[in-house]
Amino acid sequence: MNGIFKGIKGQAFTKKQFVKLTSHKFTVNQTLRKMAERKIEVQYEVYEAISELSPEDAFLLKSAREQTANSYAPYSDFCVGATARLVNGELVNGTNQENASFPAGICAERVLMSTAASLYPGVGVKTIAISYLNKKGDSNHPISPCGICRQSFAEFQMRTGQTIRVILSGQTGPVYILENAMDLLPLSFKADDMK
Ligand SMILES: [Zn+2]
Repeated sequence: MNGIFKGIKGQAFTKKQFVKLTSHKFTVNQTLRKMAERKIEVQYEVYEAISELSPEDAFLLKSAREQTANSYAPYSDFCVGATARLVNGELVNGTNQENASFPAGICAERVLMSTAASLYPGVGVKTIAISYLNKKGDSNHPISPCGICRQSFAEFQMRTGQTIRVILSGQTGPVYILENAMDLLPLSFKADDMK
C-alpha cells in the first residue's frame, strides 16, 4: 500500500493520520464478561410417508392435502391447505387467500386459526396438518409455516392454553411432526413481555 491508508470515502491518509482518525472507535484489550451461553434444540419426528402415521394424523394430513383445492393463489400458484382437530373434536380447515394487493393476502394457517376462534371461541387446536400444492414445481417435501404464522400460533396457544401439534408434508413424500408449534419460534415475543 506504499504507506497509504484509505478512509471510508476513499480518502488517502498516511499511517499516522489513519491511526489517529480511527483508533478512538475501539477499546483495546476489552474483557468480555459473558454471563451464559444457551442452546436451543428443536426435535421433530420424520416419517417416510402418510402410510406410517396413526389413522387420526393420516386423516388430518389427507384432508389438508385435499384442502389445497380451495386455495386462492392466482399469483404464486402455491396452494396451501390446512386442517386442524380442535380440543372439542371439531375439524376446521384453512387455505391461503391471495390478493392483487399482496399484503392483503393471508396464509392458510391464519385463516384456519381465525375460523376456529370465530366458530369455537376459546377452544384450542390439538393438532394441525399443513400441506401444499406447488403448481410450478414439486410438492413432495414438507414446508414450514412463515414467520407471521409462527407468531400467530404463539398467541393462539397462549390464549387457549393448548399446545398445538403440527404435521407438515407435501402432497407426497416425508412427513414431519412437531409436538409443540412453539418449537418453530424460540424466544418468541409474547404479551407477557409488555407487562
Ligand atoms: Zn404464514
